[in-house]
Amino acid sequence: MFLQFIGAYTSALQMLIGEMMKMKLGIISEVFKNLFKRPMTVLFPEERIEIPERNRGEHKFDIDTCISCGSCAKICPNKAIKMVEAPPEFKEKYPKTYPQVDLGKCCFCALCEDICPKGSLTLTTYVFLATFDKDTTMRNPINVEQID
Ligand code: SF4
Ligand code: SF4
Repeated sequence: MFLQFIGAYTSALQMLIGEMMKMKLGIISEVFKNLFKRPMTVLFPEERIEIPERNRGEHKFDIDTCISCGSCAKICPNKAIKMVEAPPEFKEKYPKTYPQVDLGKCCFCALCEDICPKGSLTLTTYVFLATFDKDTTMRNPINVEQID
């Protein structure tokens, strides 16, 4: 009985040592592989990693196709979209209300893009949005620089 116990104990110990050796070899080979791999990080901002095509970043808005239905504002879970009037100088051309997006509240869920019946509001791959100034997070429907 005692000898059987010793035999079982010894083989369990051998198995354990074998597994540990395999693990150690695995770790050592992993260390060697990583020694010759390119680093995963880059020297930002001089170098940049390509942003994946389906990444959700800052919104792009096409005021000329927007029908002012307000669906984007209604569906937004963070209340980041408010329908606002165009500035006085553009009111003649754009007399309705249009989405104003507060990126400070946005969680980039893209529900506004999904629900827009005209494809007027889309999320781009632009992700460099960090700012120290919370007053710069608002995106007005009319970007004066883009309008002639
Ligand atoms: S992406 Fe989501 S959170 Fe951001 S404005 Fe659109 S619906 Fe709101
Ligand atoms: S952006 Fe789209 S969902 Fe939002 S008001 Fe315009 S048409 Fe409607």
